[in-house]
Amino acid sequence: MNKLTLVTGADTDVLNRKALAAVLPISKETRSLLDEMVVVMRQEKGIGLAAPQVGISQRICVIEIDGVVSKYVNPEITSRSQEKIFFEEGCLSLPGQFFPIERHEEITVKYWNEKGLPKRIRTGGLLAIVLQHEIDHLDGILICRRHQKQRTKQGKIYGRIVE
Ligand SMILES: [Zn+2]
Repeated sequence: MNKLTLVTGADTDVLNRKALAAVLPISKETRSLLDEMVVVMRQEKGIGLAAPQVGISQRICVIEIDGVVSKYVNPEITSRSQEKIFFEEGCLSLPGQFFPIERHEEITVKYWNEKGLPKRIRTGGLLAIVLQHEIDHLDGILICRRHQKQRTKQGKIYGRIVE
């Protein structure tokens, strides 16, 4: 496989497009792509990386938190907590830019692992935030757009207050 390289920029097509579902059962190619993505994520000092960030429109991503690597194939959020949290998020696709983003504190995610086994996790904390960030990538939503959308939504809610 060719060495993967990061694609960057808010207007880059592959970063703004909904990625295609990975074919099941998981192929040898998808498995080695996941491994290559872990290498790139570490090189770039990120804690998560989705395939569109290396120019590949496929619904897969990798995450590394506290030395624990996890790999997700066709991840899908099946439930979200009411509670939300704000985090200042950066993105390897938008070097040097940070945006305050509101995320659900806990989520349940259904996915396939790299061995092709169906999995379901309920998670909170940093993993929940990173998963929401990566699944946004698979839906073609960059943090600059998510931030804009949230600002608009808040504007609608709070814009009615008259002092
Ligand atoms: Zn990102």
